[in-house]
Amino acid sequence: MPLTDARILLVEDNIHLAENVTEILEDHGGQVAVASTGNQARIAAKDGFDIALIDVRLPDSTGLDLLRELKSANDGMHEILLVTGNATIHDAVEAVKGGAYDYIIKPFRVNELIASVERAWRQVGSSRRAKALSQAIAERETSLRTLVDTVQALLLVLDQHGRVVQANPAVSNVTGLSPDEMVGMPWIETFVPDAERSSVSSVFARIATGERRVTLENRVMSADGKRVRMIRWQSSALEHADGTVLVYASGLDVTEVKELEDRTRLAERLAAVGTMAAGLAHEIRNPLNSALLQLQLLDRRLHKNHYDPKLLEPIALVRNEITRLSQLVREFLDFARPSVLDVEECDVVELVRNAVELQRPAASASGVHIELATPDRPVIVAVDRGKMQQVILNLLRNAIEALDATGRITVEVAADGTGALVRVRDNGPGIADDVLTRLFEPFFSTKEQGTGLGMAICHSLITQHGGDIRAYSDNGAVFEVTLPRYPPLDRRLPGDPAS
Ligand code: ADP
Ligand code: MG
Repeated sequence: MPLTDARILLVEDNIHLAENVTEILEDHGGQVAVASTGNQARIAAKDGFDIALIDVRLPDSTGLDLLRELKSANDGMHEILLVTGNATIHDAVEAVKGGAYDYIIKPFRVNELIASVERAWRQVGSSRRAKALSQAIAERETSLRTLVDTVQALLLVLDQHGRVVQANPAVSNVTGLSPDEMVGMPWIETFVPDAERSSVSSVFARIATGERRVTLENRVMSADGKRVRMIRWQSSALEHADGTVLVYASGLDVTEVKELEDRTRLAERLAAVGTMAAGLAHEIRNPLNSALLQLQLLDRRLHKNHYDPKLLEPIALVRNEITRLSQLVREFLDFARPSVLDVEECDVVELVRNAVELQRPAASASGVHIELATPDRPVIVAVDRGKMQQVILNLLRNAIEALDATGRITVEVAADGTGALVRVRDNGPGIADDVLTRLFEPFFSTKEQGTGLGMAICHSLITQHGGDIRAYSDNGAVFEVTLPRYPPLDRRLPGDPAS
């Protein structure tokens, strides 16, 4: 039955006609409610209806007024047909303007009426399906948008010329520009550092010409060029129906992962080199000691026999050299052997000030000026005082060695969370990239007389404290040491603070 389940509101003041029409509609499966006045119709409409059949002339109202009122009633998902005894062009035009679905003229034939109501019923059905569909699409779109906006992955859409079409907030976090600001910008020229631009461009060209699921790792810098992150991208291009090609890329920020990998590799290498060298140093120390003993013996014998004092001079020289050598070996062993920290609560400000004063004469001798920038209040951390002093001294010594007579060193101390930050900055030549990557390796030195141990010792001591050291160039070399409030428990002597 074509009208099954259709709720039909019949507004007709002619009782006989109303009964007739009701019967016809019910025969076709409709559920009919009858109203004989405009007011009754308004009340009945509140229960909802699918189709309304309204007589144009009503005792208390006109069908056209009622049409306008009911058109948008409830959710508006219904159709209204007007029925009239005397059709005028004017009424017909008004009906169409008011949104009537059809305009039926009395007297009508039964199958004419049924056909028209059926068409209206199908229209209601398809309007409702369209509405449900567009709601579902809108919901889907909202949830996708939320996903795009909140996901940590960087999502980037570029056109085939590499201009930004769309970017999500995760991309903004890296570039420092809002998604809207980025639209239209040439991605590679704006955000990829010079050094990687050509390789990224060539990979982009491969993707844009159809290679799928290309993985690429490259640096992305912020618009102001101040921050750089390492991003691992996965990209594919998609050709759209209108022939345009868009490149879709999703990226993960792997900066920390990369750093950790580098550090782990370095730590492993340091450990391996350290163990081997410690064994070697041990082997060297024993013969050195016995050589020293033999020298003392020789010295004594010569004294006893009243030899020419000139003979004693070279012996003293050799003894000094051997003493120096065994000192070096001992220091090296200190570095290589994992030692326990003798931790106490220290004021980093005071510790750094002492180290600077110790180094000031050497600095002055080469014309280098050292400046201190420290907070007024103490910055307390638990550290091994002697070992941290050694770290600062090594940093200052390197800075002095890198500087000429116009040199300047700035040492800053600051509270860093619950720990401390020490920054040693010089205005020397800075550190080249290939030196930066090997800086903390033992025995790596660019100096003719260098041991290459200074930075390795710093790295090892700071790591033992659970801290961190990083170096970079910024109008000179900058070293940043961060120290936690307390070093890890397993590195401390028993009885240390807070252990
Ligand atoms: P060494 O001082 O014996 O060479 P280090 O481990 O102390 O060994 O330093 C390693 C290398 O790091 C140095 O040879 C130098 O090339 C570089 N370096 C360290 N500090 C600085 C600095 N302040 N300015 C420029 N280069 C530096
Ligand atoms: Mg050094």
